[in-house]
Amino acid sequence: MRVEELKVSEKVKIILKKRGIEELYPPQEEALKSGVLEGENLLVAIPTASGKTLIAEIAMVNTILKEGGKAVYIVPLKALAEEKFQEFKDWEEIGLRVAMATGDYDSRDEWLGKYDIIVATAEKFDSLLRHGSSWIKDVKVLVVDEIHLLGSRDRGATLEVILTHMLGKAQIIGLSATIGNPEELAEWLNAKLVMSEWRPVQLRRGVFNQGLVVWEDGDVERFGSWEDLVYDAVKRGKGALVFVNMRRKAERTALELSKKVRSMLTRGELRKLKELASSLEENPTNEKLAKALQGGVAFHHAGLGREERVLVENNFRAGLIKVVVATPTLAAGINTPAFRVIIRDTWRYSDFGMERIPILEVQQMMGRAGRPKYDERGEAIIVSTTESSGDVIAHYIKGKPEKLFSQLSNESNLRGQVLALIATFGYRTFRDILEFINRTFYAYQRKDVYSIEAKIKEILYFLIENEFVDLTLEDEIVPLPLGMRTAKLYIDPLTAKTFKDFLPYMEKDPSPVGIFHVIALTPDMTPVSYSKRELSKLEEEYYSLRDRIYADDPYLAYDPYYEKKFFRAFKTALILNAWINEVSEADITERFSVEPGDIYRLVETAEWLVYSLREMAKVLGASQDLIDYLERLRVRVKHGVREELIPLMELPMVGRKRARALYNAGFRDLESISKAMPKDLLRIEGIGAKTVEAIFKHLGRDVKILEKPKKNTLDYFLRP
Ligand code: ADP
Repeated sequence: MRVEELKVSEKVKIILKKRGIEELYPPQEEALKSGVLEGENLLVAIPTASGKTLIAEIAMVNTILKEGGKAVYIVPLKALAEEKFQEFKDWEEIGLRVAMATGDYDSRDEWLGKYDIIVATAEKFDSLLRHGSSWIKDVKVLVVDEIHLLGSRDRGATLEVILTHMLGKAQIIGLSATIGNPEELAEWLNAKLVMSEWRPVQLRRGVFNQGLVVWEDGDVERFGSWEDLVYDAVKRGKGALVFVNMRRKAERTALELSKKVRSMLTRGELRKLKELASSLEENPTNEKLAKALQGGVAFHHAGLGREERVLVENNFRAGLIKVVVATPTLAAGINTPAFRVIIRDTWRYSDFGMERIPILEVQQMMGRAGRPKYDERGEAIIVSTTESSGDVIAHYIKGKPEKLFSQLSNESNLRGQVLALIATFGYRTFRDILEFINRTFYAYQRKDVYSIEAKIKEILYFLIENEFVDLTLEDEIVPLPLGMRTAKLYIDPLTAKTFKDFLPYMEKDPSPVGIFHVIALTPDMTPVSYSKRELSKLEEEYYSLRDRIYADDPYLAYDPYYEKKFFRAFKTALILNAWINEVSEADITERFSVEPGDIYRLVETAEWLVYSLREMAKVLGASQDLIDYLERLRVRVKHGVREELIPLMELPMVGRKRARALYNAGFRDLESISKAMPKDLLRIEGIGAKTVEAIFKHLGRDVKILEKPKKNTLDYFLRP
């Protein structure tokens, strides 16, 4: 179907044409004719990269133009929010306003009211619902991207609850990978179902085993090793994406492959790659990345810093990087197609030992094969060493993906959600809560809610006992201040209880490492792990810091589970403590065998939890001294600085390094900086004209600095 024929405003067509889209893909046509443009709910279950986003975009814009109101587009990851936000900005040209909302769970964000399309993570939107932001009532369309994540253990319940709240209040559009039970999900959502196997680029799938690729159509091809599949793609001027199950393996494999890929590159490519490699900041992870990059190969996993991740994605898309070896994090969402996808591992480690990677995920990885416009077809090959090719084809290629199961009854999710119903959504009786549960996918799927009822009762006992809620004489459940604050802070009630238990110790003797340790023991923080080798060192450190730690001694409990939890939290606390004492990222990664991406994740969560702890301290009547202490600690965590740099952190373009340089040069407060001569600031390492201008502007001084042209440049030659 041609874009021309679409029954939507001409404005929509202008933008589509600008993007070079003249023709709609068949599943897009089917979806847009399903009634979604007339306001009906829709569930689209089609393969990765076959244009789901566009369906949602057209539907959102159509409704906003016709009826006003706003659309919310939910994504599972911050990185995806950023990607979609950039894409949707195209619509600003026809007067729509696009915003992105991630992070900061304790805010009503009324400013979002001015926007028409809001991209948000699921957790952020859930927190906005709890805060009762006034614009929520204007939401006419709710899009849930990757809606199959409703079946994921830790995140699924959030999506389910959001949908239960919004069903009947807004038009729901779910975008899903191919799943085993789409009908069931569609029925629950009261949605039209559009399913298809159609893909913009043909996909050919096969299995590599003992020197042979057996294709799904029965053809057989000989390759010496699986690595030859990679080299073959590069030789043909195309790229390959390799999925492995572990970070270390991704790095090792990338380094290994780069040795040979290097010999296939042109001089120009080698030069550009070298430049790329030398642009990386120094740390052990980047050192490995730089080495692999010089041979045209990169790895991609959660340990990479944010900038490096984007750098790898962009340069792979642009064709400079030929091969990316990734952990499955890349399979979810991020748009990085490649001619050939190789799935090296179909097993991975989990908390319960080795487990088979679900069909759904393997099919999503395979779906990354084939770049529209460049490849006539894409190829996806699973490497198998133990199972016969026939078995792998039957399971992963011809097999039906797993069914989706509600994760609502998962206890840690349920605890927070039940409290939120009472504390922020006004549910007052057990029966009211059950009425809500009866509207969830859980109830729809299970038909009976008996077992979840029992869990909810237990949760209510817990909430009453710990003074989150109270039971009135009329048998009404009413929220108490602790419960209301906990629900809005978006923390697990168990986290709040942990804070409550340890506050008296903090009050007596506040210590950053002790506080970080408590934070890392809560269910809202995933602490880092440690190796057997590291344990004795951790134990030693623990003995020297024992009087600063609040939690019970790990050996008194005689519980190996507690001991492990204790030391993982302890290691996490040491990392955060190093961070706020201005230890460099490179040193932290080295000393604690963690990677930049891990530090970033810990810092982000810790800032939120220290903030929450401070808020809890207020509700629980802690001293003003402790509250102030916690606020200073939050700023230190946010920026990674010692106490004395705090005043400088409000300056724009000033992070921990520049703040330290200013301080060491004698500029220890805002006053001394605002009186400084520009040239004195420019003398400080890492501080240039732009920074000085921004700093002065912030302090109310309007200073323009003429940058002196560098010698041996045209500007220098032409200087006045
Ligand atoms: P999905 O969300 O299904 O994984 P995307 O929506 O990201 O896939 O689409 C993949 C790519 O296809 C995007 O770059 C998008 O711009 C492009 N695309 C979508 N629809 C069309 C179309 N009708 N014609 C040409 N390109 C399209």
